Parts: sequence; structure tokens; C-alpha cells
Amino acid sequence: MTRTINDIVIAGAGQAGARAAEALRARGFKGSITMIGDEPHPPYERPQLSKAMLQSAGTSVAYIKRAQDWNETLDIRIETGAAAIDGDADRRVVATADGRSFAFDALLLATGTRPRRLPALEDAQIEVQYLRNIEDALRFRRHIHSRSRIVIVGGGVIGLEAACAAAKGGCDVTVIETEARLLPRAFPIAISDLVAKRHRSHGVAFVFGATVTGSSSRAVTLSNGTEIAADLVLVGIGVTPSADLAVRLGLPVADGIAVDACGRTAAPGIFCAGDVALQRSRCHGRAIRVETWANAQNQAISVAGNMIGESREYGDPPWFWTDQYDLNIQVVGDMRDADRITRGDPDSGRFSTIAMRGTELVGALSVNSAKDMAMLRRIVAADARPQRADLESPGYDLRAALKT
Ligand code: NAD
Repeated sequence: MTRTINDIVIAGAGQAGARAAEALRARGFKGSITMIGDEPHPPYERPQLSKAMLQSAGTSVAYIKRAQDWNETLDIRIETGAAAIDGDADRRVVATADGRSFAFDALLLATGTRPRRLPALEDAQIEVQYLRNIEDALRFRRHIHSRSRIVIVGGGVIGLEAACAAAKGGCDVTVIETEARLLPRAFPIAISDLVAKRHRSHGVAFVFGATVTGSSSRAVTLSNGTEIAADLVLVGIGVTPSADLAVRLGLPVADGIAVDACGRTAAPGIFCAGDVALQRSRCHGRAIRVETWANAQNQAISVAGNMIGESREYGDPPWFWTDQYDLNIQVVGDMRDADRITRGDPDSGRFSTIAMRGTELVGALSVNSAKDMAMLRRIVAADARPQRADLESPGYDLRAALKT
């Protein structure tokens, strides 16, 4: 017998949790909604934490809604400063660290991820920070304003956006990256090189093929034996899924919580969306966790409907953007292990690279070409199969790919 859904609990008050809660009301759900978040704030936008908030002292936090709009307008209860840490999938209840329990008919796990820690800097004398929440962003911004000497561990999205803000703010910045180039997970070599060049022209130094192995109060030591003087170390070396609650609920957890295309986990009534969800990606040809703002939002909106009886499959290709200096770079799908076609002239600073595996267009990257990317996202999402020769032709209008 289908269970009537009266009470919904959302564990996690980030982008995914918030958008799911809103979507439930937008779809007419009249029962109770409780969102449990471990941060002291109502849900807010994270992308600006490594972008606008670091670059301008005047940028304040972008809350998704005002607290009273959640409570009064939407009748959604938000438990801030409360981590959902335990639960029972059969009895359909979750409990917070302070001992309160919340019964549910349907539960959304939107617990996200947390920064991977660097063991060499645990208990360090030098000041070390990560960049995940409002407090982290404000702390880093203060360092930028005092023109600190900053070592950044990790040449990924956080490391590079933070390096950009710090270099523009006049800081002395060095980025340490274990791989031989920047963002190897998402960028082809040519784009890694382009980005490194732009950073260097703003004074950022890079050390590749190394990591931080130790520190004193005013310097870090690298695996290659070098010592670099610093006032602050920012660590951005990736994330790990926050799946402790899922484990307590008895769900199988690998690198995330496995979900089907409707966001259902292995337990009846328990759904999952956002960075923590391990979902099949057609472009990648396997299940992955998609660590993007767009996925947190759109998957959650889609899954919310399924919590109240719809059966809507979600399959948007992963998409993210990064802004560094005058570069707006956007990536859709998977750029790795594919043949690449370049459209536009890289020397002009505006171009796109398209990734193909056989006849399948599995990914694309654009540099300062947002219009092209808008079309390429639609092409990848539709699994349209334009001819390679057409894509190679400079005069080919991408809109035609959607008509084939
Ligand atoms: P990331 O995976 O993008 O990059 C981590 C980088 O650190 C990689 O290049 C990796 O090779 C390197 N690395 C790993 N271990 C290292 C070590 N011990 N020493 C030196 N380098 C090491 O992760 P991130 O930059 O930490 O970002 C975390 C999350 O933040 C992302 O998953 C993303 O969701 C989010 N984020 C996204 C954006 C965006 O989309 N523009 C911006 C900021 C943050």
C-alpha cells in the first residue's frame, strides 16, 4: 500500500535542501516540512564565497530566502545549528546531535560534502583554513585585506578562485598542486596552461608535483624540500561526502549515497540529492558525485516531486563555471578521454572545445563564450549527435544540432 506522505524531513540546509523544500511547496505539498542544517544560518548561496565575497568587502551573504519567508510564507521549519546524526530507516525517524528526534514519511538526504583535510597541517602552528562556509570566506577576506602572504594547497576550483581574489587584493600567493597541471579533473591541458598563464601574469606562483608535508609558525615545507614563508595556508584539496547519517540509517555508502534516476536510495521513503548523491552520468558512463551548484539545485527540485509521488527521472549533464580575472570558463559533461574539436580562435580569448567519444558529444568547455555554452549544454542534455565535420566547420550554427 502506498504510504500517505504527511511529514517530510530534509537533512541538510544547503542549496539542495533549500531548493527541495521550496519545490515541495511549489508542487502543492501541504504537510509538514522540517529542514535540519548544521550551520547557524538559513540556506545561502555558496558560489559567491570563493568569488564576489572575497573580492569585494561590500558583498554580503546571499541568502536563498529570508528566515521569515521560510517560516511564515512557506511554513517550512528550519532547525539551524543542528546536525542530523542518527536515525532508523524502518521506524522512519532521524535524531539530531542535541537529542531531538524527527519522524518522517519521506526523508531527503541533502547532507553535501565537507573539505578533505590535510593531515600534515593538523595541529600546525601556522594559521590554516579551509573554504566552505560564510565564516571561512570572511576570514579569508580579512587576510586579503591585510595583504597576507598566502600559500594555497590545491590548484582546483577553490584554490584558483581564492588565488585570483588574493592576487587582485595585492597578496603574495603561491599555489601548491600535486598534479603536473591545474584542474586535471575538468580541464584539458591547454586550458590548464591558459589559466596558469593568466594567474602568473597577476603574480601568482605555482609549485606542481608537490604537496605540503610540514610547517613552522611562519612557513610551510613542501614534499620537494622547499620552504615557503606564509602568514596563512588555505587548503582546497577536494571534498568527501557527508554520509555519516546515511551510514547510521543502514544505507550502502561508497563515495557517496547511491541513488537511481529518481533520487531514491536503497531504503523506502529515503531520497538523496546534491553533492552527496552518487548518480549515473551518461557523459561519464558511470555513477559519479556531481559537485556543482546547478546539480544541487536541479536534482533536488526534481527529486522533491518524487518524494510526493511523482516519478520524474533526472539526467541533466554536470555543468559548472568558474570566474578568474577576465576568464569565464564553463564546463558541461566530461572532457576527459575524448577527441576534441575547437571552435573559435583561442588567441582571441573566446572559444569553445567540444569533446566527442565516437558519435557522442560527451562534453564541452567554453572560454568567454557563454552563448555557445548555453547551446552546448542543450546539445549535451538532449544527447544530440551533430556530425564531427559540421562541428569542425567555423560557419556551422550550433542551433542546427538540435534540429537533427
Ligand atoms: P577540486 O577537486 O576542484 O580540486 C582539488 C585540487 O587539489 C586538485 O587539483 C587536486 O589535484 C589537488 N590536490 C589534492 N590533494 C592535494 C594535496 N595533498 N596537495 C596539493 N594538491 C592536492 O576541489 P576544491 O578546489 O577543494 O573544491 C571543493 C569543492 O568546492 C568542489 O567540489 C566544488 O563543488 C566546490 N567549488 C566549486 C566552484 C565552482 O564550481 N566554480 C568554486 C569553488 C568551490
